[in-house]
Amino acid sequence: MTEPVLQVAVPVPIRRRFDYLPPRPGWTPPLRPGVRVRVPFGRTSTIGVVVGIASTSAVDAPRLKRVCDVIDAEPLLDPATLKLLTWASDYFQHPIGEVVAGTLPKLLRLGRAPKSERRMRYAASPAGARVFAEGIAGAPVQARLLGLMLDKGGISEAALAAEHRGWRRPLRALIAKGWAEPVQDSPCRARRFDRPILNAEQQRAVDAVEARLEAFSPYVLEGVTSSGKTEVYLRVIEEVVARGRQALVLIPEIGLTPQLLARFQARLSCRVEALHSGLSDGERLSAWTHARNGTADVLVGTRSAVFAPLARPGLFIVDEEHDLSFKQQDGFRYSARDLAVVRARDAGAPIVLGSATPSLEAIDNVRRGRYHHLVLPRRAGGASPPRIDVVDLRSRPFDNGLCDVLIEALEEVTARSEQALLFINRRGYAPRLLCHACGWVADCGRCDAHLVLHHADGRLRCHHCGAERALIAECPECGSGDVRRLGLGTERVAGALESRIEGLRVARMDRDATRRRGALEAVLDRVHAGDVDVVVGTQMLAKGHHFPNVTLVAILDADGGLFGIDFRATERMAQLLLQVAGRAGRGDRPGRVLLQTHHPNHPLLRTLVLDGYRKFCEDTLDERRRARLPPFASFALVRAEALQRDAPQSFLRDAGACASARSHPRVSVLGPAPSPMERRAGRYRAQLLVDAASRVALQRFLPGWIAELEALPSARKVRWSVDVDPQEMV
Ligand code: ADP
Ligand code: ZN
Ligand code: ZN
Repeated sequence: MTEPVLQVAVPVPIRRRFDYLPPRPGWTPPLRPGVRVRVPFGRTSTIGVVVGIASTSAVDAPRLKRVCDVIDAEPLLDPATLKLLTWASDYFQHPIGEVVAGTLPKLLRLGRAPKSERRMRYAASPAGARVFAEGIAGAPVQARLLGLMLDKGGISEAALAAEHRGWRRPLRALIAKGWAEPVQDSPCRARRFDRPILNAEQQRAVDAVEARLEAFSPYVLEGVTSSGKTEVYLRVIEEVVARGRQALVLIPEIGLTPQLLARFQARLSCRVEALHSGLSDGERLSAWTHARNGTADVLVGTRSAVFAPLARPGLFIVDEEHDLSFKQQDGFRYSARDLAVVRARDAGAPIVLGSATPSLEAIDNVRRGRYHHLVLPRRAGGASPPRIDVVDLRSRPFDNGLCDVLIEALEEVTARSEQALLFINRRGYAPRLLCHACGWVADCGRCDAHLVLHHADGRLRCHHCGAERALIAECPECGSGDVRRLGLGTERVAGALESRIEGLRVARMDRDATRRRGALEAVLDRVHAGDVDVVVGTQMLAKGHHFPNVTLVAILDADGGLFGIDFRATERMAQLLLQVAGRAGRGDRPGRVLLQTHHPNHPLLRTLVLDGYRKFCEDTLDERRRARLPPFASFALVRAEALQRDAPQSFLRDAGACASARSHPRVSVLGPAPSPMERRAGRYRAQLLVDAASRVALQRFLPGWIAELEALPSARKVRWSVDVDPQEMV
């Protein structure tokens, strides 16, 4: 009798599966794809996942090794998840072993068993309900928590935690008095009186999705900021969960998570789990396990949550689908948004891609009739759209990024006790330190980049490689003391504001100011509590925050994105402008947006401001069609880097020659060329663009070609990677 051959995904950067035999001859326990095995590899052993079982192997029988042991009795990964991982590995051209390992929670990678922490729910007892009705004096937190339990007929520990940081003590007090008690999980049911009545467009969107819950149906939900998209998600989720299915909600990387999650947990009384990078390893494992065994009804997560197994998938949602954070930019370069669509298709379930500024890919799919279009054209709850004023900076008083119009507007806003957001796409104090006497500039020694000045810490930092040195007062070249700080960063603008407007309370929101765990939440809390008048921030500000009291948004430098080298630069800038602008006037007061520019007549700005995002997209798509750029072509970018300047280009030249030799009619290669920033962290970088007429053509071309690249002698002198559907061309 021949033994089965186990095809194992081993976590190494090699594009193939590895064949092994069962632990012993005559092994009888079931061996199915999806179980983890410990395998001998090189001189050590490692943990892999069985992704296939075959009857033969290309490796000669005597050379086949046996797995050391089988870790799981039951498959850890179900067939649908394995299929997704295999598909992702093939499509994005990344080694299957790294794909599988990279998408498992760390503790599973280390061989631990799936683990579900017991989670409790608490409800008010009849005595508690009576006392609450009579009014509880002197214990406001207890009263509030009890009120929540009554509203929702039970509340989870996670929802309690979202409601009140120190929830355990008041909960213990409630239980000790017999006013609250632990209960069984209850089915999904929203607090009725908290649900707004949907407006006609929202209702139409909900009806459209709910009409086809049992089949793959993709939707683009295009709704201006604050139009009630989240409300639409919530209704559809309730329906799907009521039918006994699970919903997966993907959200962008930062900023959104605390608020959006709290909102989902507060509104849905079913079992909502979060899966994002802020969790401990144990929390991640627990959330993953609950998704897999079906004890979670809703999984809300960032990018990598797209790989979490679901016991009963019934709905997929990608919120802010245009967001760049859905594309992983290093290692396994996958698009979580596109994989969510693949998953929905495999599961025969609807997928809703929501955004105020849908990606051009999504709009193109709508135009081709592949995706249904749902539109929410006005703000929910009656808020009016913000007014956008283009401020022509030319020959206006202008100091540290602040022009006179902006200063006046800020004074008005703070006089009314409202708040403002100032957006500038650079952190630090100033992006350049220049000697006025000799022209010396503080550059990074390891990158083709200037060092950025961080005033408060007295440091010069490279934002690309992290190198830093002390801030200097004298030029190291000529000794002059006339060393000038050029350009603007958040730190400089925040400082300038404080000295321009007496008593102004300014907060900063950028990666420096929010690095510590909990720091972002602290800033958000201060803004919500009204302890801040103005927030100065980077694109972090654009991420879906809901600040009802913000009535002014200023974009300090709208010109940054107008002249980018990347063909997507204008799309990104338009999205960013509208997303930032969307933060203004979300409450009951109208908002205003000030757009500072030295190019008020730039056609893109004019289209965007006068005709709106839709017209901008139509124009840009027409341009892309003429230029045969994505989505009218399909790209892959091969990047290479090395310590020697010539090595990357010489490898890519060989790669280009291989491509030409394959003479694929619908595929061409461009380059190689040095990367826009050629040297980074001491390494020289270059890239080669693969330009295919379609996705199909690209996918036919890549596997054979990449196998050839792996065998090239020049490949050994560089680090190289493939990026399929690259979102950034650098
Ligand atoms: P989006 O996700 O599009 O930014 P939200 O769903 O967050 O919009 O809605 C914005 C605000 O309007 C929220 O405070 C929400 O509670 C409220 N809202 C949503 N739909 C309605 C509605 N139909 N009636 C009244 N208020 C609504
Ligand atoms: Zn000098
Ligand atoms: Zn550097």
